[in-house]
Amino acid sequence: MAIESIEALRKKIDLTAEEEGWNPDGPDTLPLLISDHIAQMLAIPAVRRQFVPSEKENQDTVGSPDPQEEAKHQGTERLVHRYRNRAAFLTTDRCFAYCRHCFRRRFSGSLTGPADEKAIRDAALYVRNHSGIREVLLTGGDMFTLSDSRIDMLLGIFKEECPDVILRLCTRAPAVFPERFTPSLMEIIKKHSHGAPFYLMTQFNHPAELSEDSARAVAAFVDMGIPAMNQSVLLKGVNDDEATLIELSDKLLMNRIKPYYLFQDDPVKGTAHLRVSIERGLEIERNIRKELSGLGMPQYTADLPDGGGKVQLTYSYFRGRVPGEKERYLFETPDGEERYYPE
Ligand SMILES: *Cc1c(COP(=O)(O)O)cnc(C)c1O
Ligand code: SF4
Repeated sequence: MAIESIEALRKKIDLTAEEEGWNPDGPDTLPLLISDHIAQMLAIPAVRRQFVPSEKENQDTVGSPDPQEEAKHQGTERLVHRYRNRAAFLTTDRCFAYCRHCFRRRFSGSLTGPADEKAIRDAALYVRNHSGIREVLLTGGDMFTLSDSRIDMLLGIFKEECPDVILRLCTRAPAVFPERFTPSLMEIIKKHSHGAPFYLMTQFNHPAELSEDSARAVAAFVDMGIPAMNQSVLLKGVNDDEATLIELSDKLLMNRIKPYYLFQDDPVKGTAHLRVSIERGLEIERNIRKELSGLGMPQYTADLPDGGGKVQLTYSYFRGRVPGEKERYLFETPDGEERYYPE
């Protein structure tokens, strides 16, 4: 049984005072829900921190409920159109487990429920009428909390209205509910695998989350020809050290998942206790780049407040023109040496 209350959680683990102090009806939080799969892993501190709520969520004084201003960029009721060439469709507010760091907590678990046929068709028609949109993110919440028949309808409508648009299947389910990917669900996905490709977008934040069952769930997509990409969030006490991130990257690559983004946890109210400073994040980025191949290196990325959009955060090896010279630039090597580069 999934864990949905503090009482149920107490039977599973000894709660700390901070965890006991969490108020489900307090400000800036989201529901408690821990899937069976994750409940088996709560002895791992990095997993516990991501799913067991803390009173610090209620006490956060920085950040805003919606720093990305998604509510202001609505194409349709559930379609966020913030970038000209891509849009995000909020398929449902539900997830199999709620991540305490969720940046979309204004929406996730808000009881708005799954998108109905009209909401899906409105969004697909909007995409069709905005020919600049080349990719749609099917997200939420988690699209795989939808029933098989709703997923069939969702993919069917998008494939019918905009067959040339890439669909990103964004989901945390391989990490938190891998048993969701039954043969019948995979058949439905296969049925709609025509026209522009699907991409599977996973979220694994720590190597321990990539269990055998999780790896098998992702493999079912990759075997079908659907590339898998991972988006991690940099989280204090979870993965804010170089060794953990390197191990995560290695494990992802070995399972045919490309590390795509490492997100700076957005200044969303209720998540400050899980955030790593950008200064430390940049140091981590520089250090892991020395150890990882280009294939294994995720892009460290921040989503700027007031709807500014995503920007890459990276240490700059470019020092500019050599002072007093027009023909040469100065660079720093990853090992800290200097090199000149001719014009
Ligand atoms: C992040 C995001 C995207 C996708 O951005 P990429 O950089 O292409 O991964 C699209 N729409 C919204 C609203 C987003 O937040
Ligand atoms: S699965 Fe995604 S949408 Fe759901 S709580 Fe986690 S981060 Fe938020």
